[in-house]
Amino acid sequence: MRLSRYFLPVLKENPAEAQIVSHRFMLRAGMIKQQSAGIYSWLPLGLRVLRRVEQIVHEEQQRAGHIPVLMPTLQSADLWRESGRYDDYGQEMLRITDRQDREMLYGPTNEEMITDIFRAHVNSYKDLPLTLYQIQWKFRDEMRPRFGVMRGREFLMKDGYNFDIDKDAALHAYNRHMVSYLRTYERMGLTAIPMRAASGPIGGDNTHEFLVLASTGESEVFFDSAVTDLKLGEREVDFDNRAQVASICQEFTKLYARTDETHDAALFDQIPEERRKVARGIEVGQIFFFGTKYSESMGALVTNAEGERVPVQMGSHGIGVSRLLGAIIEASHDDKGIIWPEGVTPFHAAIVNLKQGDTEADAACDGIYQGLRARGLDPLYDDRDARAGEKFATTDLIGLPWRITVGPRGLKNGVVELTSRRTGESEEMSPEAAVDRVAQIYAGV
Ligand code: ATP
Ligand code: MG
Repeated sequence: MRLSRYFLPVLKENPAEAQIVSHRFMLRAGMIKQQSAGIYSWLPLGLRVLRRVEQIVHEEQQRAGHIPVLMPTLQSADLWRESGRYDDYGQEMLRITDRQDREMLYGPTNEEMITDIFRAHVNSYKDLPLTLYQIQWKFRDEMRPRFGVMRGREFLMKDGYNFDIDKDAALHAYNRHMVSYLRTYERMGLTAIPMRAASGPIGGDNTHEFLVLASTGESEVFFDSAVTDLKLGEREVDFDNRAQVASICQEFTKLYARTDETHDAALFDQIPEERRKVARGIEVGQIFFFGTKYSESMGALVTNAEGERVPVQMGSHGIGVSRLLGAIIEASHDDKGIIWPEGVTPFHAAIVNLKQGDTEADAACDGIYQGLRARGLDPLYDDRDARAGEKFATTDLIGLPWRITVGPRGLKNGVVELTSRRTGESEEMSPEAAVDRVAQIYAGV
């Protein structure tokens, strides 16, 4: 993309309404625009990151064997009356009446609707296990929408639902979600710690939240600092292997890590003092096993191997897709702006032309631009007729992890400069070498 033809409405001033750094930088980098309290438009740069985050979520869900579907945002109140949640859900549910006086609602989550799909089409244990998921907008009429996309009213969520014949199979689905989430967050450059949590309106007793540590997080968390060193990394996971998946979950949950809702001071005090940490965290996901809570009330029965009709065992599993953008920025920024991890960056590299209109500089930039695109990468070429300082400020603010700086002086010696946004370190090399190096960096992402 050439910046002169793009739509990147960056702000010079700090917007007064933004209290936390991610909100400030998302507004300043022209990623989002607020339309009403907690409701945002996604401008081109923000949409690019959102799509990359979604893509990682899709890939990791499908790697675990889960199947994508798409359900409507609007649901009928009657479906929610069947589970009894229409009245229980309270003020957070946005209730709507259509012209025929039918009661509708904008879905805050989809347990009822997915159970309705299941009961219409699945009858036998032979069709199990089954896990369906979607990435779809949700609406919760939050009392205090704030911090930009962190606590919106309309927000994008991945919600997945497992259906299993018995409790063991459903607990395997729970574990599968935990492991797939670990890889999902790691690919986004995040350390998200699974913590034992309380279940809230979804119901059930088995539940973990995934928390990214950040001083601006809304949850208070208590953990053994050794938990932050755990990495799933590149290890091969066979998602059908119950023992392997369970042992990874065990590895990631045996150390103490809890939110304030489940915190146990006596247990916490048993951790060696220097490893005992109290901090704040951002909830970026949650998994639940709740058994037959919905299948019983809504009549989602299957025939088991003995020929009996039994309610299917279920769980649900959410990732805060739009919230993740805020969480990533909270975890990765400096005074100048965002520092995108390579896994989610909106453009792979910036090309900064120090002297637009100079025949050689323009030709070298075009060559690098074409070279990166030929390698399947998406560079952002700052071809504006602007001062170098302004171009640097823009690429720093929008957080592109690599910058290739091209100017007549360097070109006389046959070199351009490759700079890391994260370390600030620069290296001179030929334009071809810069293309090769950037391609190599992304080959491993
Ligand atoms: P919270 O405790 O933050 O209100 P929750 O526990 O009610 O969230 P879940 O039902 O577990 O939310 O939803 C799954 C994920 O969706 C959460 O882990 C979070 O990342 C995200 N999420 C929930 N509410 C919001 C919101 N208002 N804005 C943005 N993301 C949200
Ligand atoms: Mg939650």
